[in-house]
Amino acid sequence: MAAPLSEPSPSDTRPLAVFDVDGVLADVRHRLHHLEARPQRWERFFRAADRDPVLEEGADRLRAALVGFDVVYLTGRPERTRGMTERWLARHDLPTGPLLMRADHDHRPARYMKREALRTLAGTRDVASVLDDDPAVVAVLEADGWPVELATWLPHSSTLQSAQEVEGRT
Ligand SMILES: [Mg+2]
Repeated sequence: MAAPLSEPSPSDTRPLAVFDVDGVLADVRHRLHHLEARPQRWERFFRAADRDPVLEEGADRLRAALVGFDVVYLTGRPERTRGMTERWLARHDLPTGPLLMRADHDHRPARYMKREALRTLAGTRDVASVLDDDPAVVAVLEADGWPVELATWLPHSSTLQSAQEVEGRT
């Protein structure tokens, strides 16, 4: 399936500002209980993302970045949530893409999926900044040489952290 593309960017030479979605733009707290359940309810966790409140601090940062950069989303959400994620972005007046997502059956921890995606992205454009709320992601990307910043306005959930470490699901 071809990934839907955003409108053509004003320039294909502007550097990229890379934004994570969950915990940076989207407030995931209301759906973490699905991961605290046993067995964990991953599909319900993802489907409930439709109702995530927007995190204004992240949205403000994104709008500021759009002035000088082309924004790319890089999320651990699976491809099957693409339509819902794009509708959510549109509803909050945010660009709907480009949106880089995890392949549906890729269960690697997010840090490895994101490191690989950034290496691919950097083959075509300069990556000026990366914003992510997961300390494990930030540590790996920093070690890989990316200009990454830890988003701290929504403390990264220990539930999500352990789910990622054990299951590599988001
Ligand atoms: Mg995140």
